[in-house]
Amino acid sequence: MGLNSHKYIFVVGGVMSGVGKGITTASIGKILSARGLTLNLMKIDPYLNVDAGTMNPTEHGEVFVLDSGLETDQDMGNYERFLERDLGPEDYMTSGMVYRSVIERERNLGYGGKFVETIPHVRDEIVARLKLAAEKSGSTVSVIEIGGTIGDFQNELYIDAGRVMRLMHPEDVLFVMVSYLPVPGTIGEMKTKPTQNAVRQLNSYGVQPDVIVARSTHALDAKRKEKLAIWCNVESDSIISAPDVGSIYDVPLNFERDKLSDILLQKLGLTPVQEEDLRTWREFASRAHNGGEEVRIGIVGKYFDTGDFVLSDAYISVIEAIKFSSYALGKKLHIEWLNAKSYQQNPDTVSELANYDGVLVPGGFGETGVEGKIAAIKFARENKIPYFGLCYGMQLATVEYARNVAGLSGAHTTEIDANTPHPVIAILPEQVEKMKQKAYGGTMRLGAYPCELQEGTIAREAYLKDSISERHRHRYEVNPEYIERLEKAGLVFSGRSPDGRLMEIAELPRSEHPFFLGTQFHPEFRARPLSPHPLFTAFIKAASERAA
Ligand code: GLN
Repeated sequence: MGLNSHKYIFVVGGVMSGVGKGITTASIGKILSARGLTLNLMKIDPYLNVDAGTMNPTEHGEVFVLDSGLETDQDMGNYERFLERDLGPEDYMTSGMVYRSVIERERNLGYGGKFVETIPHVRDEIVARLKLAAEKSGSTVSVIEIGGTIGDFQNELYIDAGRVMRLMHPEDVLFVMVSYLPVPGTIGEMKTKPTQNAVRQLNSYGVQPDVIVARSTHALDAKRKEKLAIWCNVESDSIISAPDVGSIYDVPLNFERDKLSDILLQKLGLTPVQEEDLRTWREFASRAHNGGEEVRIGIVGKYFDTGDFVLSDAYISVIEAIKFSSYALGKKLHIEWLNAKSYQQNPDTVSELANYDGVLVPGGFGETGVEGKIAAIKFARENKIPYFGLCYGMQLATVEYARNVAGLSGAHTTEIDANTPHPVIAILPEQVEKMKQKAYGGTMRLGAYPCELQEGTIAREAYLKDSISERHRHRYEVNPEYIERLEKAGLVFSGRSPDGRLMEIAELPRSEHPFFLGTQFHPEFRARPLSPHPLFTAFIKAASERAA
């Protein structure tokens, strides 16, 4: 099982979920890359879904799409943003994928008549995938987040894969445990016991953590650090204080305050290529706290109400993309979540959009709130409020324009109304076949596709080039039969597929509207902290001009 001295850092969670394992993994990637190392960051999701594409975003957060078209967990988005690098399909793994490969191999007699068993065969498949990802990425270090919490039945196999890798190559494998230290209100003291117990449980799998990241509302004090060191058997220097922070982009900087990159490099026996270079990152992170004039953006969506809570996880890449552009323009961002369902019930209430500097309709599926979104788009268009539509937001802007400007009454997308007199958004024939076979998983138009931009348009001005590549995730498209009529009515298709068949960007000329633009693709998947997305920047710029 030669690892060729490639290094692997496993990140596991103790005590409870949702305390920042993904951001820890991303931040470890950031600080090690700031020392000149090349890395790949990996996410393991222990559920049986083959990819994240079939999961409900309200419950599981955004589906993040890679260039390759693989539909992954939102953590992969954070990894790409922190690392400022595209990740490959090998960098994501679910139990569904792992078991599928093993079962397919068995069906092809790939195990030569042997019993096929969870240990070793499934575990070996995991190890093989980890090694393949390392090889494909050409990196020196892989940082691998194992989803779930220690004690979950379904992630044991992955921890065991790490254990076996360490057994074979003790000098090449590290375990970082991200734990949580509660400060119960009634006691007012930070408690270490749950972390001690989590470490014991990890020990029971044969794994000793090398580093503990101590998440809490407060910073870890010397007394508790000592206590953890003694009871968890971890050097006190390797216990990193990770209090809550205002912005996730401060986390790598906090880690470096405790010299985490030095600790990891030393434990892995790696020599850094350079002194830490987080200068540009530090400047970027400080802009998150020091914005100038406020810009108010209203996001009209549907995936954020769960019981009594409002969750914005379904749109995380959109929010981050808006942030990067706002920070770059020196603005202070204010985002408000506007529920399309309530606009649908009370259409008059869309007039509240006049209080915003920009309106955005993000990606979405299905019928819920659709008329509310269309009403919002109409209001933004008529009142010249900057409007940015992403995927569904572009399709519905086309529907709105068709109905209210091009005179195509009753126009719709066939996703919602199969019998509309004017199917301006329709499904392509190849997709119809897939739907008939109920082949829903991984069958949309997915991943990076090229797009040609038209001279003299907002899109072309923003990108400053003629051809671009952006990531997609949709089944429906602008119906080619309606393009001419929509263009005659004033809608400009400023981005098209190279063969001219697919409409990728729709916009209105500046003379008509300060910024009315929609993309069939998802530009948010390509926005990065230090290189904000040009279309988001153009949108925020237009919004701040309205604010001024
Ligand atoms: N529901 C639309 C489609 O499938 C849009 C999808 C999206 O917004 N990602 O084409």
